[in-house]
Amino acid sequence: MVREKRENAFQFSTHRIITMQRKISRRAIVKGGLIAGALIPGIGLMANSAAAAGLPALDPKDPTAQALGYTTDASKVDATANPTYKSTQKCSTCAQFQGKAGDASGGCNIFAGKSVMAGGWCKVWAAKPAA
Ligand code: SF4
Repeated sequence: MVREKRENAFQFSTHRIITMQRKISRRAIVKGGLIAGALIPGIGLMANSAAAAGLPALDPKDPTAQALGYTTDASKVDATANPTYKSTQKCSTCAQFQGKAGDASGGCNIFAGKSVMAGGWCKVWAAKPAA
C-alpha cells in the first residue's frame, strides 16, 4: 500500500515535470517565433539594400526606360511633353523606389535588376505612401 502510494506520487511528479517542460517549450517556441518574426523583416530590408547597392544602373537609352521617359535627373523633364510631371516628383519619392532615404540610387520595382537614380523620374511615378 505504501509502495503503491510512493509510485503514484512519483508518477504524479514526473507527469508534472513533463507538463512544465512542455509549457516552457511552448513558451520558448512562441518567444522564439516572436523574435524571429521581428528580425526577419529587418534582414529582408538589409538584403534589399545590399542587393540594390550591387545593381547596375538603368541606362536611360534602354528601350523600356525610353518608353517610360526615364531620366536620371528629374529637373530636366520636359513638362510640356509630360503634363503629369510635377517638380516634386522624383524616384526617391516614388512608391516603386526601393532605396532608403538619403540613398543616391536604389532598385525600382518597374525596372527589376537595375538601379535608378534617387533624383531620376519616369512616367509611372506614383507617390510613396506616407509612413
Ligand atoms: S517607377 Fe518610380 S522609382 Fe522607378 S524609375 Fe519611375 S519614377 Fe523612378
